[in-house]
Order: sequence, then structure tokens, then C-alpha cells
Amino acid sequence: MLPSSVYEELGLGSIREKVLAGERLSLEEGLRLFECPDLLAVGALAHHVRTRLHGWTTYYVVNQHINYSNICVNGCRFCAFSRRKGQPGAFELTVDQILEKVRERLHDPITEIHIVGGCHPDLRLETFERLLSAIRRIRPDVRLKAFTAVEIAHFARLEGLSTRQVLERLRAAGLDMLPGGGAEVFSPRIRGLLCPEKLSGEGWLQVVREAHELGIKTNATMLFGHKETLQERLEHLDALRRLQDETAGFVCFIPLPFQPHNTKVDDARGTTGVEELKTIAVSRLMLDNIPHLKAYWVMLTVKLAQVALHFGADDLDGTVVEEKIGHMAGADSEQALTRWELERLIAEAGFEPVERDSFFEKVSGERGGANADTAKERGAA
Ligand code: SF4
Repeated sequence: MLPSSVYEELGLGSIREKVLAGERLSLEEGLRLFECPDLLAVGALAHHVRTRLHGWTTYYVVNQHINYSNICVNGCRFCAFSRRKGQPGAFELTVDQILEKVRERLHDPITEIHIVGGCHPDLRLETFERLLSAIRRIRPDVRLKAFTAVEIAHFARLEGLSTRQVLERLRAAGLDMLPGGGAEVFSPRIRGLLCPEKLSGEGWLQVVREAHELGIKTNATMLFGHKETLQERLEHLDALRRLQDETAGFVCFIPLPFQPHNTKVDDARGTTGVEELKTIAVSRLMLDNIPHLKAYWVMLTVKLAQVALHFGADDLDGTVVEEKIGHMAGADSEQALTRWELERLIAEAGFEPVERDSFFEKVSGERGGANADTAKERGAA
């Protein structure tokens, strides 16, 4: 933490006091943090909170991402991933093809499989139940983190079921957790501009509330840097904070900088590094009840994600292996990182790398970090 005189000069003295006392910040205080020209002063406040929560631990996960299809009935303007059925670039994996991808990595000590796709017009809930059950049989040891709240609502519409019924059926088939995607920015103005066909912000929060009530934990995201105002960003964070007060079901928050390439957003400028770091820091400071904050290297780039560990983030996500959603929008990060690379990035930033599972439980024993697998990846005997 920087000296109090620095914050007094910036007009943030009272905010510093509240952060030190662990008190909740208002939206107006969040706005003052966003508008503060001193990035390092804001970052130091977030770093104080991050170290109070997690010390010098930084988490990572050994995981596998699978996108089952990019065919989608919605036409979100910020999305470079989706295609209409029959359009060039559209893809759709069969259950067998997905299982093949899972089998290809049976030798890897992964703890999580992350599965998402577009809102496909024909794929039925029964297919996804079959898929989850089959993966569960092949890899009973992994956590299945699958389907955003938007996909859950889409399945419900297709099947004529309630979203709660869809969640119950998927959980019975093996679902452990929902990822946090599809939240974007909850503002109706922004959704009207950029994704009018998509599940509303209220709808997203309701599906997630139901998941939490059923004991299914979730993550939460915010896509920022397109057309939203700082106030709309803060209102998004506040809606998550209020739901977390109710349910305590969010595990991790993931701020996602908008990737403008190949999208239909007019005047898309893309985010700057300063904007990304400040949004991470302000998110850490506002979300006082969500335990973890992820620097998602796929969207931030590996190097900025490493720096973000000093601006409030305590997680670097994972090995990933094959990422399509960000890369089709121009993300120029790597496609995969090894466990050793993740540990090195974390250690060089001055933190202690700890391998986690989807729920941020420490992975221990032979599978844990800094173990034989790491040595193998380094090329040791
Ligand atoms: S963001 Fe999701 S819902 Fe929107 S078009 Fe892309 S895949 Fe479909």
C-alpha cells in the first residue's frame, strides 16, 4: 500500500480508509477509482485486498477447453465465434468426436473440462446429458464445468422446460459447475445495442440464482471495453455483488477485455493495457464478497495477465490447450500453456503457484503443482 499522503492528494483518502477497514465501496467510490489517473495507486489498493484474501498464493488449473459447436441462433455483434448453420466456418462436433478429444488427454492430470458452445438450433438436451455421462465414465476424476446461463436458458426454450429443470437434469448427468460466460454487461441499453436476441441481464442473473439455489456453483464474467459506460460497468459489478450476498454461489470473477477483430461492433477500438489493469483492480475492490478474480491470459495476453497478479488477480486460469472463442476475435495469445509455464509466470511475478481444481480446492499429492509432471514438461528425466 502506498502512503496515505498519495491517496489524500488524489482525493481517495476516504476510500483508502474504507479499503483498510474492509468496508464496502459505493458505486460513486468505484467511479472515482476508475477516473483516478494514477493506475499504480488504484492497483496498490487492489493488491492490498488480494493479499489480505490470498496472501502470495496464485492459483492455476490444469484443464481442457472444448467448444462443441459455434452454430448459434443469436447474433451478438461482439461475437466473432458464432456462425449460422451452413455458413462457412460453422462447426459442430458429434458426441463421439468430443469424447475422442477427452480420450486424447487421458494421460494428462487435468482436473477440469470446460465445455461451452453457441445456442445451437437443433442439439437437444438429451445429447448433452449423454455427453456429460459419457465423459464422467471416461474421466470420473475431473470436474465438468459446462454451459453458460445463456445456453441453459436456450436448452429450456428448446425443450419447453424450466431452466431449473434443465439444471437438475444436467446435474444428474454429471454437471459440476457453470462457467461465467454470457453475462457481458447487464445493462439493457448495451444488450439492446449489441446482443438484443440474447438472454437479458435479469435472465442471466435468474438462471445463476437458480443454479446457486440447487448447490451448483458458478463463475461470473464481464465483457468490457465496447460501448459500455463506466457507470454500466459498476452497475454490472454491483448486480453480481448483490446476488452473491443472497446466494454465496460465485467462486470466481473473470473480467474479459473485448476483442474487436472480426466482430460487428462499429468504431470498435479495443482496450488498452491501462484500462484492463484498472478494470481488474476496481473489480477486486468492488467485489468484496467474491473470493477469486481471474486474469484470463487468453484474453489479456500472457504478459499482461502476469502483471495483473499485482493488480488484484489471484488466478491465472489454466493450460486450456485449444481456445476458439477469444482467438476467433483476434486474441493473439498462445493457444495453450504448460503447467511449467504457468508456474514460471507466477513465480517470476513473485507469487507462490498453487494448482487448484474448479472450486479452488488445492490439488495435492502427485497431481499437485511443482511435481513430477512439471519436471517432465521442463524436459527433466
Ligand atoms: S456470444 Fe454466445 S450467444 Fe452470442 S452469438 Fe456468440 S455464441 Fe451466440
